[in-house]
Amino acid sequence: MPARPLCSLCLRGSFPPMKTIFQKIIDREIPAKIAHEDEHCVAIHDISPQAPVHVLVIPKKLIPRIAEAQIDDQAVLGHLLLSAAAVAKKLGLEAGGFRVVINNGRDGGETVPHLHVHVLGGRPLAWPPG
Ligand code: 5GP
Repeated sequence: MPARPLCSLCLRGSFPPMKTIFQKIIDREIPAKIAHEDEHCVAIHDISPQAPVHVLVIPKKLIPRIAEAQIDDQAVLGHLLLSAAAVAKKLGLEAGGFRVVINNGRDGGETVPHLHVHVLGGRPLAWPPG
């Protein structure tokens, strides 16, 4: 029997691939407070906000994490950053400033294996992060 092909979308080796919580939000299977949506991404308010404004900008294409992004993803990645800035402006963060964060892997603090850009603002944010 031929080996099952490896698939980068298979999470934790499951086949067929399990949907991430963010894929379920994109597919409207679970609710979220949506701050922005377009053809390529959705921006939702974080369920456990770490600042007065805490939004996640999520590509509709499942890229597990930034370290696994491919050259073909370049346009989507640019779109995510431009969308993060646009959402920050829409939510009133432009004047005071804001932070854009991508957590990658265990030491980076990633908990959901579906790329997302955090946009945090509405209070002074300490540096360096913990
Ligand atoms: P990470 O730790 O992977 O960088 O970020 C995942 C983020 O997703 C966390 O800030 C967490 O609070 C948020 N999150 C996890 N589950 C849900 C959910 O069901 N809904 C929303 N809106 N945010 C979620």
